Amino acid sequence: MDKALSPRRAVIVGGGPVGCLCAISLAKQGWHVDIYEGRPDRALLNEDLLKEAISVPNIQVFFKHKVSSIDFDARIMSVKDEEKGQDVPVEFDLCDKTFTCTLFAPTTEFDRLDTPQATLGWFKTHFADALLLIGEDGLLRDLGNNPRSPLITVKTNPYHYKDRAIILGDAAHAMVPFYGQGLNCGLEDVRVLDVLLRKHEVDPEFHPAEDAVDFRLARALAAYSQDRHEDLITISDLAMDN
Ligand SMILES: Cc1cc2nc3c(=O)[nH]c(=O)nc-3n(C[C@H](O)[C@H](O)[C@H](O)COP(=O)(O)OP(=O)(O)OC[C@H]3O[C@@H](n4cnc5c(N)ncnc54)[C@H](O)[C@@H]3O)c2cc1C
Repeated sequence: MDKALSPRRAVIVGGGPVGCLCAISLAKQGWHVDIYEGRPDRALLNEDLLKEAISVPNIQVFFKHKVSSIDFDARIMSVKDEEKGQDVPVEFDLCDKTFTCTLFAPTTEFDRLDTPQATLGWFKTHFADALLLIGEDGLLRDLGNNPRSPLITVKTNPYHYKDRAIILGDAAHAMVPFYGQGLNCGLEDVRVLDVLLRKHEVDPEFHPAEDAVDFRLARALAAYSQDRHEDLITISDLAMDN
C-alpha cells in the first residue's frame, strides 16, 4: 500500500489494561497499533480487554517482547524478542469466580513471617477469620509462592515528549491502592487523550518525515500534560492520605 494512504503506526509498550484500551482507542481513530508486551499472554490479568484488542484487525500484539530502549527523536526502539521469532500461541482461561487477597503490612511485619509457625501465629492474632477461610496449607502455599512488592508512587510532569511519546497509566502515575482508583485513572487517561487527539484533528493517515514534527500531535500531547496533571496529583495524594 502507498505509505501516504496507509494508517499511521503507533507503538504501545505494555499490554496491561491501559495499553490495551489505548490501542483500541487509537485503532478506532484509524491508527495501526503494535503492542509490545514483555510477559507471555497468560500472565496478564486483563483478559477481556486484551481479547478485545487482539480481535481488532489493525492491532498487533507481540508477547514476550520486552522493550529495552527507545530513541524517540530517531524513532528507533530496541526490543528483546524472547521467542526468537517463533509464533506465540494465544489462549485465555475462563473466569473461575475465585477471589484474590492482598496483604498490606509494613516491611518489619513481613520480616517476622519467616517460619510457618510464626506466620500462622501472626494470622491467628490479626486475621483469624481469613485464616479460617483460606486454610493453613493454602495460606502458607500462597504466601510462599506469590511475590512481595513495595508500594510505590510515581509523580511526573510533563507526560509527553514533543510529538513522539506519551506515558499513561501506572507508568505515569502509579499510586498506593487505598482509594481503588489507579486503574480508573489509567482508563480516564485514555479517554482524555482520545478527546484531545480528535479536538486537535490529529490525522491518523499523516506520515511525517523522520525529523519533522507533527504540530497537531505535539499540541494534543502538550494539552494532555497540561490538563491531566492536577487531577492525577490530587487522586494520588488522596490515596496516600487514605
Ligand atoms: C493491590 C492492588 C489493588 C488495586 N485495586 C485497584 C482498584 O480497586 N481499582 C483501581 O482502579 N485500580 C486498582 N489498582 C491499580 C491497578 O491495578 C493499576 O492501576 C493498573 O493495573 C495499571 O494498569 P496499566 O496498564 O497502567 O499498568 P500494568 O497493569 O502494570 O501493565 C503494564 C504492562 O507493561 C508491561 N511492561 C512493562 N515494561 C515493559 C517493557 N519494557 N516492555 C514490554 N512490556 C512492558 C508489563 O509486563 C505489564 O503487562 C490496584 C493495584 C494493586 C497493586
